[in-house]
Amino acid sequence: MKHGPASLIHFILVRAMRLNAVPRTAERLLLLVLIATGIPLSARAQLTETELAMTSSIDRRQSQALALLERTVNMNSGSMNFTGVKQVGEVFLTEFRNLGFETEWLDGAQFDRSGHAIARYGSTGPHILMIGHLDTVFEPGSPFQKYSLLSDTHAKGPGVIDMKGGNIIMLEALHALKSAGLLEKMTITVVLTGDEESSGRPFSLSRAALMQAADAADIALGFEDGDGNPATAVIARRGYTDWQLRVHGTPAHSSQIFRDDLGYGAVFEAARILNSFREQLSQEDYLTFNPGLMLGGTTTEHDEEQTRGSAFGKSNVIAEHTIVAGDLRTISLEQLARTKKRMQEIVSDHLPGTDAEITFRDGYPPLGPTDGNRRLLALLDRTSRDLGDGPVEAVDPRLAGAADISFTAGRVEMALDGLGLMGNYGHTVNETADLNSLPSQTKRVAILMARLLNDRDLP
Ligand SMILES: [Zn+2]
Repeated sequence: MKHGPASLIHFILVRAMRLNAVPRTAERLLLLVLIATGIPLSARAQLTETELAMTSSIDRRQSQALALLERTVNMNSGSMNFTGVKQVGEVFLTEFRNLGFETEWLDGAQFDRSGHAIARYGSTGPHILMIGHLDTVFEPGSPFQKYSLLSDTHAKGPGVIDMKGGNIIMLEALHALKSAGLLEKMTITVVLTGDEESSGRPFSLSRAALMQAADAADIALGFEDGDGNPATAVIARRGYTDWQLRVHGTPAHSSQIFRDDLGYGAVFEAARILNSFREQLSQEDYLTFNPGLMLGGTTTEHDEEQTRGSAFGKSNVIAEHTIVAGDLRTISLEQLARTKKRMQEIVSDHLPGTDAEITFRDGYPPLGPTDGNRRLLALLDRTSRDLGDGPVEAVDPRLAGAADISFTAGRVEMALDGLGLMGNYGHTVNETADLNSLPSQTKRVAILMARLLNDRDLP
C-alpha cells in the first residue's frame, strides 16, 4: 500500500497532536516530520508501509552495524594473512547463522589463499547472489591497521569501504528483509571471497565457488564501494588479460643492420609491433592495452613472478631478444576476442630477419553492460528516488576496475555492483568512509531486493 496525500496529512496532524505542538507555520511542522523520520516527506509518499518499516528497522540497528564495522576493520585481513582472513570470515558467518543462514568455510589451500565464506538461505522465489570479500590490501606489516573516527560522519580504516562496510550493508539489508517477513520469500547465496585483492590462481579454482553460485542464481549484487559516489552504480566492468610478446632477431654487427639477409633486430621489431598496436587499436571505445615492462638486447632474463628482469646488449650488436609484458582491458568477450585476433595479425607481420609471438593469459572476464544489468540499475534508480536520495546512473566502465562480480557475467540475468559503503581513498592509508552512507545504502539495497520479489520476469 502506498501513502497517499490524505494519509500523510492525517499522519502530520496525529503526530502534532501527540506532541502537543502548536506550530507557528506549516513549514515548521514539515520540518518536525522530516526530523522525526529521517526521510524527506516527498519520499515517504513513494514508499509502501512495509518499505517504511524496513527503513525504521535499519535505523534502529545502526549502532550495532557501526560496532561490527569497527570490530571487523580492526581485525587484520590482508590477502596473505590467511588466519586473519578466516577470522573475519568466521565473524561474518556467525552473523549470517544468527539470521538463519546455513554457513560454510571453503578452504583455499588448493589455490594458495585463505578461503571463502559462503552462506545460504531459502529455496523459493528469486535467487539473489550477494558478493563481498573479506581481504584487504593492508597486510600485517602495513602501518594502517586500525579504525578511527575522523568526525561524526567519517571514519578511517583499512578495508572500511573496500569492503568490510559493503559486507555489513549486505548483512543489514538482510536483517531488514527478515524483520519485514520478506526474506522467507527469496533464495539468497552470500559469497565472501578471501582473496579479491590478490586472487589465488588459477581462477578456475579460486573462483569456482563464485561461478557455481552465479550459475544457480538469477541476480548478482556486488557490494564494492564503486566509484565512491552514491549517485552511481556499476553495470559494466572491464576485464583484463595479460599478454607477453617474445621477439627474436638475427644477431650481427650493428653496421650491417637493415641488410636484407640480417634484417632489423628484435628491438626494432618489438617497436614496430607496439607502435602498430597503438596506431590501429588505441582509438576504440573501452579498449586499452599497456606495455608495462620491456627487456631487449643480446640476452634477456625475465622473472615473471617478481615482474622484473635484466638484459645484456651492446650498441654495436643487433639485438637478438626482446620481451614485452602488458595488459589488455576490454568491455565484452566479443571485444576481447576481436582484439586478440588483431594483435596476433600485427605480430605475425614480421620485419625481415625477425620472428615474434604473443601469448595471452586471461584474468578477470569483462562484465558487459547487458539489458538485464540496465534494468536492475533502473530499479535501483527508482528506489533511490523514492527514498528521496536522487537518481542513480551507471559508472563509466573506464573508471570501474575488475571485481569479483565479473565472474557472474553470462551466468545471471542481471548484475549490479557498487552497492557498498561510500567513501574515498580506497587502497591507501587514508581510506575513509562516509558513515551516513551506511544506513542510506542499506535502505536502497533492502528496498531494491523487496521490489525484485514483484519483478514479473523472475521466478
Ligand atoms: Zn574490493
